Amino acid sequence: MKITAISSPETFTDLKRCGECDHIYHRPILKGGDVAYCPRCRVKVATGKDWSFSRLCCLACLMLCLMPLAWTLPLIEIRLLGMTISASMLAGIMQMVNQGDILTAAMVCFCVIGTPLVLALSFIYLAVGKHLGMNLRPVLLVLDKLKEWIMFDIYLIGVIVAAIKVKDYADLFAGYGLVAFISLTLFYLLLIIHLDVESLWHKFYPQPRQALRPEDVKCCIYCHYSGQNDDRGRCPRCHVKWAPRIPYSLQKAWAALISSIIFLFPANLLPISIIYINGARQDDTIFSGIFSLASGNIPVAMVVFTASILVPISKVIILLALLISIAMRCEQGLKTRVRLLRAVRWIGRWSMLDLFVISLMMSLVDRDQLLAFTMGPAALYFGSAVFLTILSVEWLDSRLLWDAHATGNAEYTD
Ligand SMILES: [Zn+2]
Ligand SMILES: [Zn+2]
Repeated sequence: MKITAISSPETFTDLKRCGECDHIYHRPILKGGDVAYCPRCRVKVATGKDWSFSRLCCLACLMLCLMPLAWTLPLIEIRLLGMTISASMLAGIMQMVNQGDILTAAMVCFCVIGTPLVLALSFIYLAVGKHLGMNLRPVLLVLDKLKEWIMFDIYLIGVIVAAIKVKDYADLFAGYGLVAFISLTLFYLLLIIHLDVESLWHKFYPQPRQALRPEDVKCCIYCHYSGQNDDRGRCPRCHVKWAPRIPYSLQKAWAALISSIIFLFPANLLPISIIYINGARQDDTIFSGIFSLASGNIPVAMVVFTASILVPISKVIILLALLISIAMRCEQGLKTRVRLLRAVRWIGRWSMLDLFVISLMMSLVDRDQLLAFTMGPAALYFGSAVFLTILSVEWLDSRLLWDAHATGNAEYTD
């Protein structure tokens, strides 16, 4: 379903401002299954009736029940020299902590334990807080940001890659935890597909309709409410101080990007994993690790190459190009640049794959036996670079790409 663009300066009651490109449009009436896109930048701005809040709460409760099982039960097991060794998510993280690399462990823990737990608990908080009259605004604001950081789907690919890597050394079996983890990932995907934060805002904090002229309609950068600020200069819905653009967007995006470029050098030059086979030490950088993987299984090596080399480097180049284009107020190729920004937003998180594989491998084959696997110093730099590029994309306000147009009337046409 398409929305018509606003051209006449009359007064409308249901005007909205697009959070991506600042374009003003009429809010359409949507039926179940309908999706509305911004007429200017083609971003999804509204969906028809979706799953009810109680159904989403049920999914969150199911996730909470499965989480302890998925975290602690073995995901994969190997039989080495007559011994059964199992790898669980928590054991992998603890192995990193025991080695003294607390920061890398914290990064893995944040993506697969911390943020999913916050997501599930947020729904419980909303359900309980609604009846107790608690302030639900901070939780709704956090819900909007969580999606980028929950990486169950990537961890699942990590389990497959780790299994293929250790398959050469030992017999491999699936653990009980794998069933719990796959179910947890499916419930999470279902929840995130049907989660519409805008409709939750509407449910908990419905706002009165305002009769405004198009030029008076503002968009809150935090909760995406369209309307006017209250008399204290705050958004009437989320109560955060109103700002036309993300404050210090360019400065923060540049700082995160430059830091991530600096971190990418040690991440690629230092060893990321160290394997001891029969007492002989073998250091592997990201690149040499992919080469040794390619000798056995080319498709898996391609996946790891894409996640660990191609994605981080192309992401840095794209972000650099976008930030320079904004600084130079470039007007060419707006459509391509908007697409590139959406692409880096989507692919960025996949770079964490290698760290997840390492964390699993460590709990599997770090037994001080004939075969041992430890993490190299590059892992911390690599994880930091990935986190910083995700932050850089988060902090870059996409409206700045549109602002760079001198006329401000650029159209994103197919
Ligand atoms: Zn738009
Ligand atoms: Zn707001």
